[in-house]
Amino acid sequence: MNKLPETSAGFADATWETLLPYYRELEATPLDAGNFERWLAHWSRLDELVTEAASLAMIAYTIDTANESKKAAHLRFSTEVLPNLEEAEVSLARKFVAFDPQRADLQTALRRFRTAIEIFREANVPLVSEAEGLAAQYQQITGSMTAEWNGERVPLPRLSPFLKSETRSVREAAWRAANLPYVAAHDELAALFDRMIGLRQAMAHNAGFSDYRDYVFAAKCRFDYTPADCERLQRAIESEVVPAALRALEQRRVRLGLDQLRPWDIAVDPWRATSPVPYRDVTEFQETAANIFTAVSPELGAQFRTMMNEGLLDLESRPGKAPGGYCDTLHARGRPFVFMNAAGVAEDVTTLLHEAGHCFHAFASHARPFIWQRHPGAESAELASMSMELLASPYLARPTGYYAEADAISTRLEHLEDALLSLAHIASVDAFQSWIYTDPAGADAAARDRAWLALRERFEPGIDWSGLERERISRWYRQLHIFLYPFYYIEYAIAQIGALQVWRNSRRDAPAAVEAYRRFLALGATRPLPELYREAGVELSFGGELIGELVALVEAEMAELRAALTKVA
Ligand SMILES: [Zn+2]
Repeated sequence: MNKLPETSAGFADATWETLLPYYRELEATPLDAGNFERWLAHWSRLDELVTEAASLAMIAYTIDTANESKKAAHLRFSTEVLPNLEEAEVSLARKFVAFDPQRADLQTALRRFRTAIEIFREANVPLVSEAEGLAAQYQQITGSMTAEWNGERVPLPRLSPFLKSETRSVREAAWRAANLPYVAAHDELAALFDRMIGLRQAMAHNAGFSDYRDYVFAAKCRFDYTPADCERLQRAIESEVVPAALRALEQRRVRLGLDQLRPWDIAVDPWRATSPVPYRDVTEFQETAANIFTAVSPELGAQFRTMMNEGLLDLESRPGKAPGGYCDTLHARGRPFVFMNAAGVAEDVTTLLHEAGHCFHAFASHARPFIWQRHPGAESAELASMSMELLASPYLARPTGYYAEADAISTRLEHLEDALLSLAHIASVDAFQSWIYTDPAGADAAARDRAWLALRERFEPGIDWSGLERERISRWYRQLHIFLYPFYYIEYAIAQIGALQVWRNSRRDAPAAVEAYRRFLALGATRPLPELYREAGVELSFGGELIGELVALVEAEMAELRAALTKVA
């Protein structure tokens, strides 16, 4: 076999031409029982090195977007190397599947490879690239949106602090300003979506599916649940979560002293006049996070300190950094990397706790020998991150955490309220997407808007939207998943229901819950989804009974937190 570079630095300048011989050689190697594992290890290491080089190029670019050579390197990987790599992977997967290895810890990988091969169609390759072009148009349209604010044109994220203002007129003005660009772009985005639907249904038909929803279930390797399960989950959320969300909103309304909640009354903290400042500088931000993770588990604290020591956290907002945040895995060295734009606000803490859950998953699953055994899909990835938000929540107060006692309590209360409202939102988005691709009326722009409004009536009661119909419609145009990552959304509800069970377990026996959580992380992708959840001590469930129990626990906790706040206030 061609000798591989020691580290991914050896591929930093790679082009597809320089990488192709490595993949050709793997493809040309006849497999037998004697060389299969060596062949697999070589392929896995090659993928580790190539994907790590691509990740490092992306990280370097997102940290310094003005640098032309970093941009060029990132584009070389994302537009040239990675698309070609995908095709090369399918042909190696064919060899792997034909060899049919009997190793138990390769069965999930085998199943994913089989599905990828089954649904792959040459005819869909140009459709995929056309869809990429439409996705880029959506990002361009929404990315360049600005709002008029205090006589200035500002990017939409700059309005976030004002959406939380304790002065109602300020948050109303900010809310209206933030919605206006989407209302204005309605027709343009609706026409774009018309084209997306056409392409997606065509891809599904090419691959032999009756509609795009069935195609997506295969493409996303959803082996352990069906569209009918998702519908059951939507109904369970409607009957168990929506009434609880309504009760939480009623508490909010009373606390704010309002006759009616309007859409701009949801982000403000009804308990705190001013948002707490969690840390003074990025060093304190990281140190405090390390203390919290150590309180959850000394080993997790040590992993986070490794990231601090090895420069694997780029947290603070600086000029030239790309917006947003992410956690990426550097597979060759077995380390995660976190990128975010911390600005000294409470949301930074939530984001870091969440991303750290992904990091701990990457650390633990790296022990698996092959790259395909590590990442188990979004349902499990988000279980890791959402559970960490909840496992860390008892340690948010000083001296371990970021906040004064009262701020820690109101932050936890906000987190649970948000969990209820998010579940209802997720159910409406999933029901909407399901309808779009299975009802012929989904191809009609006006019918889509009507269907959305009807769903929001079911899943979003308790807020007075009168006179704001266009804004209410525009909410789905703002949900970028519907445009860019179709059907990627119900995973958040599945994972949140799992995470609430981890939290429930931790209240009975915290060390045991953390141990189960860590055993789950270490399995990576080597078991089917229900077994991974079981290892974490939770049930993969779509029914109302469990959700009802969890909602009752959440509501009891919220009542306790409110009582505690009344005492300290
Ligand atoms: Zn996540």
